[in-house]
Amino acid sequence: MEITEQDLEKKVLSYAPFDIPKLRKAYDYAKNYHKEQKRASGEPYIIHPLNVSYVLSSMHADIDTLCAAMLHDVVEDTEGTLDDIEKKFNKDVRDLVDGVTKMTKLDLNNKKELSAINLRRIIVSLAKDPRIIIIKLVDRLHNMRTLEYKSLEKQKSKALETLEIYVPLAYYIGASRIKDELENIAFRYLKPSIYGDINKQREDLKKETKEILENTKAKVSDLFKKNGLKANFEIRYKDNYSIYKKLLTHIKFEMIHDMMSIKVLVKNTKDCYLALMLIHELYTPINNRFKDYIAKPKTNMYKSIHTTVFGEDNHLIQFQIRTYEMERVAIFGLTSYWFKYKNNAKNIMKQDLEDNFQFFKSIKELDSTILDNIEFVSRIKKELFSSNIYVYTTTGEVIELPNGATVIDFAYKIHTDIGNSMVAAIVNDEAVALDYVLENQDRVRIITDSTAYVPKEEWLDKVVTTTAKNKIMEFIRDNE
Ligand code: MN
Repeated sequence: MEITEQDLEKKVLSYAPFDIPKLRKAYDYAKNYHKEQKRASGEPYIIHPLNVSYVLSSMHADIDTLCAAMLHDVVEDTEGTLDDIEKKFNKDVRDLVDGVTKMTKLDLNNKKELSAINLRRIIVSLAKDPRIIIIKLVDRLHNMRTLEYKSLEKQKSKALETLEIYVPLAYYIGASRIKDELENIAFRYLKPSIYGDINKQREDLKKETKEILENTKAKVSDLFKKNGLKANFEIRYKDNYSIYKKLLTHIKFEMIHDMMSIKVLVKNTKDCYLALMLIHELYTPINNRFKDYIAKPKTNMYKSIHTTVFGEDNHLIQFQIRTYEMERVAIFGLTSYWFKYKNNAKNIMKQDLEDNFQFFKSIKELDSTILDNIEFVSRIKKELFSSNIYVYTTTGEVIELPNGATVIDFAYKIHTDIGNSMVAAIVNDEAVALDYVLENQDRVRIITDSTAYVPKEEWLDKVVTTTAKNKIMEFIRDNE
């Protein structure tokens, strides 16, 4: 859908009518600075900041956030300056634009001390005003939605960066709808054929199980009515990326227990437990699939009750039971209710984050305990960002490995024979030692010699993946 300035105004009119003149001013300002610029799609550039503001207006973002979203590329891409933005708007808008501009340069893979100082500054500043993260996430979301216009190479590197940095950030602030969308788009570009296969299987399953789910829903709904419980239902299928991750753990498609779920939305917490009781009365639950995230919320504040039952025709169906308020938090994270405190959103957010969110607590703790900048960045990376890295083969294929994986892990991941005959490795055009620890976006070439008899016992200390360990032990055993 094409978003216009009128659409945005209509949204804002519904919750902050007096801010419309300011919003219009930001729109005109941005439009004027970006005037000649075009997006890769050929559209006028202003479409992009307009879309970013529009998504934020759906979360009822405050006017400073909306203005900053509108202006977020002005300093980076045009003659516009921060000083002028402060003069025409205010200090908060300036700081937000500044933060978003700096965050664009967040490169966790740069190993120089100077950049570690900068990185540390950016990361610590994120914790100061989380609205920067929210704007940046929505900025990335719109760029990912329009990624088709970019070159293949750009598509892959943006998709990788999204998985590495933005998906974890979205998770940390609990913005799960944004997280899911980012993951699924990134996945589609990184592994198009696997994505296609999974999507097809999922669509087939949807056709096959539509009736079963509808029947289950109807029965539960009936029982609720008899007990005077009001609820809304939504049928959902696991998204493609989550399915992919499950398949990677060697669980078969048919065996995924939460492939199909029914979301049950009720008024208050008491009704959640009543709903749970009634569902269990109707269908037998699987013992170890019950989770009470209301009593014990996830670290990102997600609350819900999950239970998987043998539904109609003995199909495994997961129920997710939560209140409408919990649902809002599940979609947008705490952003949804922070923005209710209009003028004070920034401070309330900050306090909330520090009290409740592990991510922000960790930043504060690490910042106060670690002096060395490189060490700080590496700890942040290890503790807070993706536990996996993504590297390229020489043909541009993307390989996913756990953090800490070496070129030997890479070789075995490609093929057992390649691992077993590996004699050297070249990363980004330079020869490296066999215990070289891979970094995101490395390009890796393995040199093999089929007459070499190579895997040695000491290799076991140089690998982290179970596959590589097993293959090396197997080789040693077979060749003793
Ligand atoms: Mn942008």
